[in-house]
Amino acid sequence: MAETNSKRFHEKDREDRIRTVKEFSGLSEDEAEILRGNDGISFGEADHMVENVIGTMAFPLGIGTNFRINGRDYLVPMVIEESSVIAAASKAAKIARKHGGFSMESDESYSIGQIQVVGVNPRTAIPKVLRASKTILKLANSKSKTLSQMKKGAKKVTCKRLETKSGPMLIVELLIDVGDAMGANVTNTMCEGVAPLIEEITGGRVILRILSNYSTRRLVRGKAVFDKEEVGGSKVVADIIHAYNFAANDPYRAVTHNKGVMNGIIAVANATGQDTRAMEAAAHAFASKGGIYTSLTTWKKDKAGNLVGSIEVPMPVGIVGGIINVHPMIRVCLKILGVKSAGELGCVIGAVGLAQNFSAIRALASEGIQKGHMRLHAKNIAISAGVPKEKVHEVAQKMIQENNVSVGRAREMLESGN
Ligand code: NAD
Repeated sequence: MAETNSKRFHEKDREDRIRTVKEFSGLSEDEAEILRGNDGISFGEADHMVENVIGTMAFPLGIGTNFRINGRDYLVPMVIEESSVIAAASKAAKIARKHGGFSMESDESYSIGQIQVVGVNPRTAIPKVLRASKTILKLANSKSKTLSQMKKGAKKVTCKRLETKSGPMLIVELLIDVGDAMGANVTNTMCEGVAPLIEEITGGRVILRILSNYSTRRLVRGKAVFDKEEVGGSKVVADIIHAYNFAANDPYRAVTHNKGVMNGIIAVANATGQDTRAMEAAAHAFASKGGIYTSLTTWKKDKAGNLVGSIEVPMPVGIVGGIINVHPMIRVCLKILGVKSAGELGCVIGAVGLAQNFSAIRALASEGIQKGHMRLHAKNIAISAGVPKEKVHEVAQKMIQENNVSVGRAREMLESGN
């Protein structure tokens, strides 16, 4: 949604922001009330979710604005503790709108399940497993009625041979269309379900039966054009490309570059109840697929001199399963987003990652990242210096004006009373 109202989203007060989101996404009053409830989860709900619970802990939930993805406007819920991420993503999305926003696409949601077989000669066992593919797939699919009814589920059996220090091993892999779920549990259930059959076929012994988090069969990719003038002119465009090439050629820089991408990706993932560890693990492994860790995004200039960014990243996400159907705030966040499939959610998340990366490298390649970051971080600095709540805004503004945002300066102001 474009910031077309008289007040821009960040200038509205909380109630006005909630009203805007409610109208845009068609939330009910009960759903709006969940947003006002701060953490949206009771002790009882938390106690069912994990073990040894003593409480719950809230993080800020903000809205990424201006996102236009595949011709549709989105308000994007983002949960993150780091200041400046939501503002930076929204700013990038605003610039991208000028040339139509983000064009994104997602693969089918295929997960990969692995079954490790030892005590076999892989060379003779592999043809036996492949010949029994149909029977293996049938057994795997009998473990999920839902996926079978949707004509999804296990689709293919493949095998690979590993030579290891503990001897040769056969790895049987199931390729499973998990539909709109992240699919870890269904994948693990299928792997465990077919393990005895694999042992029978190969005469070997199965040890591990679990999904691979290297989600290379569910990638999201896409691009956006950032107008040369809005970016800051052709020198800034050229410097952003220099910055990208630094990341593309140096893992020390690429890790930080990709951390910026993940700032956007994980914030949306948190808000929508995803397994962020699975996403991080897959993204960083994918960044190393060529043997050297590199950038998850690419940046170049088009013929008109505009900046073109693209991204390709694994996207093991779901809109059903896990805690998604359990956590009331997550359900509201998904309703705000209004996505209808895991693929569409992946497209939004990928676009936010690209937007976030744009803002980070633009700041780095021009004014430096600290000016903007510290402006937005000033209130946190004031709080950590012990400034009382009612004075935080005033002290933060003063530090920004003085261009000296630091705990030391906040303490001085506190002690001198101004
Ligand atoms: P889940 O176990 O809740 O299962 C999702 C279920 O939803 C499916 O089994 C299916 O029956 C049903 N379903 C209904 N409509 C569907 C649709 N349109 N498409 C697909 N399925 C539909 O959740 P999950 O996604 O299998 O597992 C995710 C959870 O597993 C996460 O909480 C994750 O943290 C956890 N996990 C992760 C790992 C790992 O990443 N290594 C390992 C184990 C568990």
